[in-house]
Amino acid sequence: MNYKAAFEKAVDQVKAEGRYRVFADLLRHRGAFPRATWTMEDGSEKTVTVWCSNDYLGQGQNPVVLEAMHAALDAHGAGSGGTRNISGTTHYHVELERELADLHGKEAALLFASGYVSNEATLQTLQKVLPGLITFSDELNHASMIAGIRAGRGEYKVYRHNDLAHLEELLAATPADVPKLIAFESVYSMDGDISDIKGTAALAKKYGALTYIDEVHAVGMYGQRGGGVTERDGAQADIDIIEGTLAKAIGVMGGYITADAVLIDAIRSYASGFIFSTSLPPTLAAGAIASIRWLKEHNEIRERHQERAATLKKLMLAKGLPVMESSVSHIVPVLVADPHHCKMVSDLLLSDYGIYVQPINYPTVPRGTERLRFTPTPFHTDEMMEELVGALENLWARCNIARLGGVAA
Ligand code: PLP
Repeated sequence: MNYKAAFEKAVDQVKAEGRYRVFADLLRHRGAFPRATWTMEDGSEKTVTVWCSNDYLGQGQNPVVLEAMHAALDAHGAGSGGTRNISGTTHYHVELERELADLHGKEAALLFASGYVSNEATLQTLQKVLPGLITFSDELNHASMIAGIRAGRGEYKVYRHNDLAHLEELLAATPADVPKLIAFESVYSMDGDISDIKGTAALAKKYGALTYIDEVHAVGMYGQRGGGVTERDGAQADIDIIEGTLAKAIGVMGGYITADAVLIDAIRSYASGFIFSTSLPPTLAAGAIASIRWLKEHNEIRERHQERAATLKKLMLAKGLPVMESSVSHIVPVLVADPHHCKMVSDLLLSDYGIYVQPINYPTVPRGTERLRFTPTPFHTDEMMEELVGALENLWARCNIARLGGVAA
C-alpha cells in the first residue's frame, strides 16, 4: 500500500472541490477586539478586523475574565493534574458547575473538555443508561451530536429541520413504552435560525420523551441573565438536559451539561469521555466563572449585540447583498452558493481590505449553499460595518456573484 499517495489523493480531492481549508495565522490585540495581526506565509504582518469570531461578546478580552485567569494561574499553577476522579477536581470546577446549574435553572452541571465532547459523551451515554433508547435528532444537528448518537449504536430517527409535524409523525409511529430522547439545538449556527423549544417540549411531554438541547450558540447571548434561548422563552424547566460551551460567548474553553442531579450523577458515572479525560485547567474554570457572573449582570451587552447584528443585516440588505432569510439571530450568513467564489471573496477581503471572514463550505454546510458567515459583536463599530459592506459590494461585482433576486452584480 502506498500510504503517502493515498493521503495525497484525499487532499487533492478536497482541493479540486474548492474546499481545501487554509488557516489564517492570527494574534488578537488585547483591549482592541476585534482587531488582530495576521501573519502571512512570507512572514509579513497586517492588522485586520475579525468578522467571524465565535467569541461573540468579546468576553475573551474582558478585563474581569483576564484578571480571574491571572489570579488562578499565580495562585494555583497551570494544569489540573488529573481526571476529575484522580486529583483533577479543584474548587474552581466545583464552583463553576454550581454557577452553570444556576444559569440554566437546573440542580446540577457537569464539565467536559469541550462542547464537542459534552455532546458526544452525553448522547452516547444516555443510550447506555437507558437500554432501548430511541433518539430523535434534528437533521441539522451539529457533528458532535451526530457522533454521540451514532456511537451509542442504538436506534435513531432523523426529523426534518425544525419540522415539528415530522417529529410528531416519527414519535407517534414509535411504541409508547420505548424510552425516547429528542435532541436538537436552539440557535443553528450556520443558518442563524432558532428552534421552537416550547413546541418541541410539548411533543416530548405528549409522547413521554426526554429532551436534550444544544445551546452552544445561545449561552451568554439570550435571556435576561444569558441562560440562552431556553431562558428567553421561559422554557428552562421544560427541557431535561441543557448543553453548552464555555468557548464562544463565555470567551474561554470547555463544555458542559446541566440537568437534574440524578441524571448528572448517572452521566458522571458512566461517560467514558468524562471519566478518562483530564479536567480543565483551573485557569480556564476561573475565567469561565468570572465571565458567567459578569454576563448574568450585564444584559446591556446582549442588547448591544442584537442591535449590532440587526444593523449589519440592514446595511447589507440595502445593498442587495444576499443575507440568508433564515437568520433571526445574531448570526449574519451571506449566500455565495459556490465554493470557489466563496474562497475567492474571503481571500480578497483579507488581502485587499484587511477583513477576515472564513469561507463556509461543505461538509459544514450542504454543497451549493457555501456562504460567508459574519458574527458582528458589540465591539464592531458603524465605521467597520461600512467598510465591510463597501468591500463586499466591490467583490460581488468583481466576482459576478448573485445579489438578492438572483441578479448577478
Ligand atoms: N455544538 C454546536 C452546535 C457547535 O457549533 C459547536 C462548535 O462549533 C459545538 C457544539 C462544539 O463546541 P466546542 O467548540 O466547545 O467544542
